[in-house]
Amino acid sequence: MAQFSIAHLYPDLMNLYGDRGNLICLQKRLQWRGHQCSIENLGLSDDMELGRYDMVFMGGGSDREQGLVYEDLLRKGSRIMEQIEAGLPMLCICGAYQLLGQSYIAADGQVMDGLRFFNFRTVAGSPRLIGNILIEANIDGQKVSVVGFENHGGRTIFLDHKLQPLGHVIKGFGNNGKDGGEGLIYKNLIGTYLHGPFLPKNPAVADFILSAMAKRRGVELDTLLDDSIEKYAHDQVKDRLLGSSR
Ligand code: GLN
Repeated sequence: MAQFSIAHLYPDLMNLYGDRGNLICLQKRLQWRGHQCSIENLGLSDDMELGRYDMVFMGGGSDREQGLVYEDLLRKGSRIMEQIEAGLPMLCICGAYQLLGQSYIAADGQVMDGLRFFNFRTVAGSPRLIGNILIEANIDGQKVSVVGFENHGGRTIFLDHKLQPLGHVIKGFGNNGKDGGEGLIYKNLIGTYLHGPFLPKNPAVADFILSAMAKRRGVELDTLLDDSIEKYAHDQVKDRLLGSSR
């Protein structure tokens, strides 16, 4: 049995539309395989020594909360990219994803500097892009159907054509409602607009993150889980979006 630990960044400020469910999903899927997983909350008053965790998670937030978090993380977070380069698994939803780029210009015109880990920028527009979303994601060279719920004013534009979106939008808006891209995947980091919660309905993505966590620690994760309920939840959203019912 292995003991894993996950850092949950700013859980009281950045936690919309069930984002925390993603962590419960990762923790449960490890427990079902005979391992343990603790979740440590890190907030405005904490240090961010993220290299000692097996995975880092940050959820979405409103523009006001993003403003509070951005300044704090900019002061503390410059070394996170070294960990990402070294393979640290990280999941950033919506407002947290926007933070990884150059900047986010909020609905009231406030410019929030990003961490500048990736060359993209986000500008709030109107109307907000809201609804269930279906994408075809590219995970570890495999095409995977992924569903979620999005609600964002921000339009994210990649300025570097080598950046790899998490997937291609089948129904919904994604990064900007125009270019068909959704989210970002780089090594073991995923940035996405999919709330939902995202991982319970997409166990293949949860297992991609868990395998990366396990590999980094030299732990075998071989037990296959019965994902029939997860698959049912996934298919319900997918069928609704594609207009068929079961
Ligand atoms: N405030 C950001 C936007 O509207 C992020 C919202 C969110 O995290 N859901 O684009």
